[in-house]
Amino acid sequence: MENRIDSSDALTARKYFSNIWSAIRTTAKGMAITIGYVIKEKEVTVQYPEEREILPSNTRARLYNDVENCTACSQCANICPVNCIYIASKRMPKDAPAKKADNGMPIRMELTQYTIDTALCCYCGLCTTVCPTECITHTKNFEYSKYQLNDMKYDFLSTEMRSLRTAVLAEREE
Ligand code: SF4
Ligand code: SF4
Repeated sequence: MENRIDSSDALTARKYFSNIWSAIRTTAKGMAITIGYVIKEKEVTVQYPEEREILPSNTRARLYNDVENCTACSQCANICPVNCIYIASKRMPKDAPAKKADNGMPIRMELTQYTIDTALCCYCGLCTTVCPTECITHTKNFEYSKYQLNDMKYDFLSTEMRSLRTAVLAEREE
């Protein structure tokens, strides 16, 4: 059987130079688009961690409960869709001095445990919306990863978490 080349596929001198021109033209077109982005478009990335973006005020990052203002009402735990808030409390002794939250709400229960397992938290923010004293809020801090999942449980009655209070309250004022 005879192998014939279709005359339309044959590489003529005209086709040869046309291919070279097409390669130059399309490469130049692509480079023009790239250079346009380099010159005109503003940067969309930052050199983290040396540079940090200013996060919006409604950022939903790490949760913080200011336990001094917590009434132990459990509304946050009840609404949490993943059940990651663990609360325990007991009645205040009868002779204990009356205690009120900053918004005037009486605190009748003594909080004995307030833990959030942030490895389970989906950062929906529902707990912050139902809190009657607004003591639980999201902060802008997103840099608290750990190597072990168990270390993501935070006890807000601990000295470590209480030591963050001043900084968190200052951030709330911003
Ligand atoms: S942000 Fe959502 S998931 Fe996280 S503790 Fe609050 S209610 Fe639960
Ligand atoms: S809803 Fe607010 S006051 Fe009530 S237990 Fe939760 S954090 Fe405390």
